[in-house]
Amino acid sequence: MITNLKNHNTLGVDSICDGLHSFSSVETLETLIDTLNRPISEFKVIGGGSNVILAPRIEKVFLQSSDQSIRLIDEHSDKVWIEVGAGVNWHQFVLHCAQQHWHGLENLALIPGSVGASPVQNIGAYGVEVCEKIHSVNIYDMSKRCQQTLPADACQFSYRNSIFKTPAARNWVITSVIFELDRQFSPVLRYGPLCQLDTSTLDANMLIDQVVDIRSAKLPDPRVLGNVGSFFHNPIVSTSQCIELQSKHPTLPHYRVDDQHDKLAAGWLIDQAGWRGYRENGVGVHSEQALVLVNYDATSCDAILALSQRIVADIQEKYGILLHREPEYVA
Ligand SMILES: Cc1cc2nc3c(=O)[nH]c(=O)nc-3n(C[C@H](O)[C@H](O)[C@H](O)COP(=O)(O)OP(=O)(O)OC[C@H]3O[C@@H](n4cnc5c(N)ncnc54)[C@H](O)[C@@H]3O)c2cc1C
Repeated sequence: MITNLKNHNTLGVDSICDGLHSFSSVETLETLIDTLNRPISEFKVIGGGSNVILAPRIEKVFLQSSDQSIRLIDEHSDKVWIEVGAGVNWHQFVLHCAQQHWHGLENLALIPGSVGASPVQNIGAYGVEVCEKIHSVNIYDMSKRCQQTLPADACQFSYRNSIFKTPAARNWVITSVIFELDRQFSPVLRYGPLCQLDTSTLDANMLIDQVVDIRSAKLPDPRVLGNVGSFFHNPIVSTSQCIELQSKHPTLPHYRVDDQHDKLAAGWLIDQAGWRGYRENGVGVHSEQALVLVNYDATSCDAILALSQRIVADIQEKYGILLHREPEYVA
């Protein structure tokens, strides 16, 4: 049935597809695939739609997990293993963990979206990446019609990347994620504003509150202003290119990745190039955070894609750096 995904993507753009169906288990997913009887390539999985740019017309059927289960599957004196359904809201899961005294995900509070999508781009924030706490990922392969459990070290996790973004995973549906969490609260406070927290009184809920406050002050709420969070990856360049850039731009922020590479802040480059607060055709660059492109009142994704291409070309011309888009364009 023809469906508009406007309320299923945080950019808030119109996108007409051939249907949106939810499944709560592998069995219901298999039944859906049989009943819909379409080529596997015409199915696309969606979670909260917070990391996708949806084309105005998509000739695909969207599948969405509604599995809300959270199960303690094993425990030791210092660790717990929790299996979580792909349909669970990520932030609600983080809050649930704090209530249960299962620790390690506090810094990832308020990231929009679903648990099922969290391994896809290896969500990260404030010095923590989700891969550090993933034990394994359960998938259903729609083409082979079988289930598989991928241990974390088979998921090829790296900065905002994983096997789930590669062609090998094109027909996979993540059905649940197994997390290995700590019983003891050992906060990671490397990131700027978190460094100032008093560890002697800090607990998990206080840390989550801090993260929520910092994020709310910096990032636009997609319910108020359409956006997909960071629009570009932070570019990783050779250390020699970084040194050359620094000689021209002495305040250039950079973070050492390894002996030969540095990571630059895409938001800083876009800001310095004068784009922050820029607005055209119903879309723009957020006035507080230049890495976030926002949708004021555009009805399709065309304007945001056009603006992003102009930014990419400008940054390439000014700094010789090619920015890569973070959200997936689904057409
Ligand atoms: C305001 C804002 C702030 C953000 N901040 C951060 C941040 O700090 N750090 C960060 O890493 N990200 C951030 N993001 C990006 C986004 O929240 C994450 O990428 C999130 O994990 C996407 O979840 P989702 O359920 O919305 O996925 P969707 O956007 O629905 O899907 C994203 C991709 O995952 C695939 N997918 C979804 N579910 C499944 C499944 N069950 N099986 C297989 N594939 C699946 C989709 O096909 C698509 O390719 C932010 C986004 C916004 C809007």
